Amino acid sequence: MREKVPRWESELWSYMSSSDGMHCPLASHCQIRQSGKWCIDDNMERLNQLLDAKGFNLRNYDFIECEACGRIFKMVEMLARRYLKRGRVRCPPVPTGLVSLFDEQYPVEVRLLPLKVYHGAIWHPKGVWIIQLKAGDTSAAKRFTLFHEAFHILAHCRTTPVFRKRGTIQGSFNELLADYFATCILMPREWVKEKWVDVHDLNKVAKIFGVPQSAMCIRLKRLGLI
Ligand SMILES: [Zn+2]
Repeated sequence: MREKVPRWESELWSYMSSSDGMHCPLASHCQIRQSGKWCIDDNMERLNQLLDAKGFNLRNYDFIECEACGRIFKMVEMLARRYLKRGRVRCPPVPTGLVSLFDEQYPVEVRLLPLKVYHGAIWHPKGVWIIQLKAGDTSAAKRFTLFHEAFHILAHCRTTPVFRKRGTIQGSFNELLADYFATCILMPREWVKEKWVDVHDLNKVAKIFGVPQSAMCIRLKRLGLI
């Protein structure tokens, strides 16, 4: 039985359906921008580089400011919460099996492949979703990519673009939203705050949540914890 889609979620998908995927559809009347606050959209290239960087250097993260989050990001976070609740996940690390709930109609299969250019991609042959992950990535990176790709599945099911095979298109706004979704579902803000008080060590907290250090560092910065 198809679950009733909450009104805020319909709002999210209608913005996404109407956008070109490259820029925030709410940019022209976003209060965060108008008040001159730090916007993820304006910084997406740099954030992308951090997520993709090989080494880790805390100083490279200095440009990230504590959040104010625009409406569309808030809705993406609500969406992540909804799936955690549906999967009855209450503490980290979030199990990867949660992606099986992302389409009510078709099963979601995960395949590891020697991908070269992308970290992940989705493919939708008849009757199944396939999430391809780069075999050579660390398990933490694979988990992040998995939920990034899973967001594309949701977007595909709820919006109406013509589907095509694709990987991570660097720099586009939809990719940023997919990263933000992965961030929110793997590192729910309340859990991160709680663990940070206990552990207070970036590396250890990243391990507890099963996420790359870079992704955790961005989350901690945005939450104003470091
Ligand atoms: Zn993507």
